[in-house]
This record gives sequence, C-alpha cells and structure tokens, in this order.
Amino acid sequence: MSKVEDFLSAKEEQEIVDAIRQAERNTSGEIRVHIERTSKISHYNRALEVFRVLKMFNTKQQNAVLIYVAVDDHKFVIYGDKGIDAVVPDDFWNATKNTMQEQFKKGNFKQGIIDGVIKAGEELKAHFPWSIGDEDELSNEISKS
Ligand code: CA
Ligand code: CA
Repeated sequence: MSKVEDFLSAKEEQEIVDAIRQAERNTSGEIRVHIERTSKISHYNRALEVFRVLKMFNTKQQNAVLIYVAVDDHKFVIYGDKGIDAVVPDDFWNATKNTMQEQFKKGNFKQGIIDGVIKAGEELKAHFPWSIGDEDELSNEISKS
C-alpha cells in the first residue's frame, strides 16, 4: 500500500507549489492541488467535495481550479468553478487532462501536475488577468488526505 507522502518527494512538492505561485502571478484565478490515496465515491464527486471542503467556491470571480489526484486509483480530475468553466473552450478540460495523462503514463507525476498547473494558469491568465489589488485567495500548498 503506497502512502500519499511517497507519491511526491518534498522537493517535487515544492516545485509544484512554485509552479502554482508562478501561475498565479499572472491571474486573479486560483489553482490548488489535492492528493489522496483513494476515493470511495466517484472521483468527479469526490473532487467536487474537496473543492467545497477547501472553500474553493469562495473566490471573488469564481475562477478557482482544482487538480485532484487519487494515487492508488490512478485517477485524477480537474475541476474549475463556474467563472472559468463558462469561458474556456469546450475541449479545454479534456485537453488539459490529456497533457497530464501523457506525463502520468510515463510515471512523471510531478511533471504531469506541473503541466496541468501551467495549462490552467495560461487559460486563467487569458480570461482573468492579474490586476492590482488581487489577493492570493487560496493557499498554494498541496492539500492531502
Ligand atoms: Ca488570486
Ligand atoms: Ca493561491
């Protein structure tokens, strides 16, 4: 049985946090990563639950994006709040998933997550550019359970 802690090294986690911080420099949007071993409910529903627990619906422009990973289940979900979901191209979430999947298949978990963060960040930047007064509304740390 793998532990969530073994999934990424401390250094890899820091690189992901740095990628989130970097992405959020250009947008008012918020990106969070949540990692856990497994989910008893559907991964989509679980991602939604985590979104709620992390209070990710509480951004001013409803533009938070969650990258949810269930390590043992080999599943992940990208969930964007309605502000961002309303403006991205129809295939955006799938395209982002595919980008991540390519790295995951090669066992490059850190890079897969970082690629997802970068892609979400670019899209957020296009629709919600950073402006003076924007705050870091949600922690950039990786959430685990
Ligand atoms: Ca922000
Ligand atoms: Ca943040």
